[in-house]
Amino acid sequence: MTDTAICCPRCAHTAIEHLFTSPVPGVWDVLQCGRCLYCWRTGEPDRRTRRDAYPDSFKLTADDIDNAPEVPAVPPLAVPAVRPVEAVEAVGAAQPVLRSVSAQRASEAVPPV
Ligand SMILES: [Zn+2]
Repeated sequence: MTDTAICCPRCAHTAIEHLFTSPVPGVWDVLQCGRCLYCWRTGEPDRRTRRDAYPDSFKLTADDIDNAPEVPAVPPLAVPAVRPVEAVEAVGAAQPVLRSVSAQRASEAVPPV
């Protein structure tokens, strides 16, 4: 694949950014489309890296992107049953109890002098 042949497999845009190179140079590169932000590694199968082999149902045009609906907002995080601070406080409160039990057992194990 030459640089002139590179286009986005998803939207056919030709402004492709080079993001990463494999730790062993020349094995693979990670590329990203400047228009639809699709990323791919050059070592992936043709159906992920080549426009002509990319599934037709997932191909986009510039018009598709311009008219795409707004990305849905991320909903608020669910409230956990126990807040992390409460869990830490509970662990902190349990430690003195465990120590006192251990200290009590230790004093029982030692024969009176
Ligand atoms: Zn693209």
